[in-house]
Amino acid sequence: MAAANKTASPVAPFLRATPSDTAAPFLRAEPIKAAGAFFIDTHCHLDAAEFDADRDAVYARAVDAGVAIQIVPAISRDNFAAVAATCERYPGSLPAWGMHPMFIDVHRPEHLADLRAQIEHQRPVAIGEIGLDLFVKNLDAATQEFFYIEQLKIAKEYDLPVLLHCRKANDEILKQLRKIKVRGGIAHAFNGSPQQANEFIKLGFKLGFGGAFTWPRANNLRRLAVNLPLEAIVLETDSPDIPPVWIGRGRNAPGELPLIAQELATLRSVSIETIAETTTQTAKALFGLD
Ligand SMILES: [Zn+2]
Repeated sequence: MAAANKTASPVAPFLRATPSDTAAPFLRAEPIKAAGAFFIDTHCHLDAAEFDADRDAVYARAVDAGVAIQIVPAISRDNFAAVAATCERYPGSLPAWGMHPMFIDVHRPEHLADLRAQIEHQRPVAIGEIGLDLFVKNLDAATQEFFYIEQLKIAKEYDLPVLLHCRKANDEILKQLRKIKVRGGIAHAFNGSPQQANEFIKLGFKLGFGGAFTWPRANNLRRLAVNLPLEAIVLETDSPDIPPVWIGRGRNAPGELPLIAQELATLRSVSIETIAETTTQTAKALFGLD
């Protein structure tokens, strides 16, 4: 039910601002719940320190908005415990184990053995967050490549999909995917050309779309969001990062996913139910959640 119709009820959780939530209230819509469908946030750092003060409320708001599953990728060996604790506490939050390319300073080759041990201890839905970041300065490319390749091999060995961080590195990422044939995954926060998108799709990958395409000036992403096959798209927030336009510079949260889906529905001139059903089915198939 729309919150506006329940005059006697307190403020709907969806409309309640969180402390660091700087969104303009007039941009906030009512809760969007697609009938018979639910949403999967395929990339959500729910364990991040930004949520330490109010993680329970952030999670409750996401569930209330219909975001039934959140995939929580790890970023380093020392982060496995925090992701594990988060996924144990919040039903529907599922871990991915991996070492993020932006944190190569803390990764050590022996952590690859720890990654294997973690997979054996608790099978994840994916290996991630892994990849290459050639945008941020002072991240040694050769070291990034080493951990990317070794983790692709581990994903292949365990027959797991991968969650890819690829910034200014789509071609380098694709080059290794052609050599090491993992069972697919997600090009998270995809930003590239239609040709690069097609190369990912040919290799069995889906493209992650979140807050970035909601910005009016994101012409490339908005074109991709309209023109790519809907079956190639999965939704994500990358919380607490990549806030949608209505959050501005504030903290992103998984509860924003239905509004991101609504934006995609509007751009593509389809119903939000279609977006929810298709993207959820795609993500379920990818992660083996059927
Ligand atoms: Zn991430």
